[in-house]
Amino acid sequence: MAQALSPSPFALEQILNSISMGLILVDANQTVCLWNGWVERHSGITAEQAIGRHISEAFEELPSRALLSAIANTLSYGLPVVLSNALHRSPLPLFERNEQEAEKKRIHQSITITPLDAEFGGRNCLIQINDSTTSIKREKILRTHSEMLKREATTDSLTGIYNRRFFDEHFKMAMGHAVRHHVPLSVFMVDIDYFKEYNDSYGHVAGDKALIQVAAAMRKQLMRATDVLARFGGEEFVLMLPNMAEDSAMQFAEKLRTAVWDLNIPHVNSRICERISVSIGCSSFFKHAESDANILLKCADAALYEAKKAGRNQSYYLPLQQFNSSSATTKDKPQKTASNQL
Ligand code: GH3
Ligand code: MG
Ligand code: MG
Repeated sequence: MAQALSPSPFALEQILNSISMGLILVDANQTVCLWNGWVERHSGITAEQAIGRHISEAFEELPSRALLSAIANTLSYGLPVVLSNALHRSPLPLFERNEQEAEKKRIHQSITITPLDAEFGGRNCLIQINDSTTSIKREKILRTHSEMLKREATTDSLTGIYNRRFFDEHFKMAMGHAVRHHVPLSVFMVDIDYFKEYNDSYGHVAGDKALIQVAAAMRKQLMRATDVLARFGGEEFVLMLPNMAEDSAMQFAEKLRTAVWDLNIPHVNSRICERISVSIGCSSFFKHAESDANILLKCADAALYEAKKAGRNQSYYLPLQQFNSSSATTKDKPQKTASNQL
């Protein structure tokens, strides 16, 4: 226990009144016996007015019910209580001291209630109050900042959709889920046709604008929160749709391709048509023996290669069981190719 030479009552009073935290002492009947300078300054009520009153009547407003019951409990059972400021923002009517501002701002408080032995038996209760307004504000700023950093770390800065890093992490998790729960997972690789020529004809800035439009058009096709569209790199995009099986995958790929086609972005130097188009490769996992996420991705990439080879501006579905991962080519003839005649 801390020891000190007994300070004079005069020194003790000065200490209590200059300490930068609130101190209120109530006796076993919850009558206020001590009300320090900090509490006076933040409540606008002097010690003279407060001392001798019941704690529930000492302020202009009733303290919170949680605080009153914590005081009653501490006096009955002799146990300390901490009122977390996450749950109890402002249990007492205490305000910031800024005379310039017409409206008084209530401060956030961290309150500790401690039982103390009374001089002549029985129990008192010490209420210690800290102003946590600044730390809560700082915490909020830090939280916003960290959320912003997290968003930046997972977002592609040009298009605003997810980046490759986010996709890689979530794709592995989605694959694990599909394997464990025996649910399908479909993947789509999308590549803009003759985009080099687009940049050469219209310039890099127009190219960037087209990438933004293509990303937005595809994003609009997503229906579920678990669907992910990401920029895979350059003019390539990747999508993963959990719970989408083979029979719907080709339909969805066509929806994506049509959405980009309908943007009707002129591309006079595309060698296949006069507007921006995309080629799409897709594949699905469902109770397949091969559960490596990379193989599914490679399979969709091989399907994209087939879509390009078959003339671009089309979708191609390659079943995972027909994909030979070692050579990254198809074993058999293509299963499904969608028409590019729009
Ligand atoms: P293909 O139909 O075979 O896909 O032909 P392509 O011209 O689209 O493919 P290639 O890989 O030859 O060229 C891709 C082009 O995409 C080249 C590059 O300048 C452009 N590109 C990649 N990233 C960006 C970007 O962030 N902004 C712009 N404006 N262009 C980009
Ligand atoms: Mg490409
Ligand atoms: Mg391309």
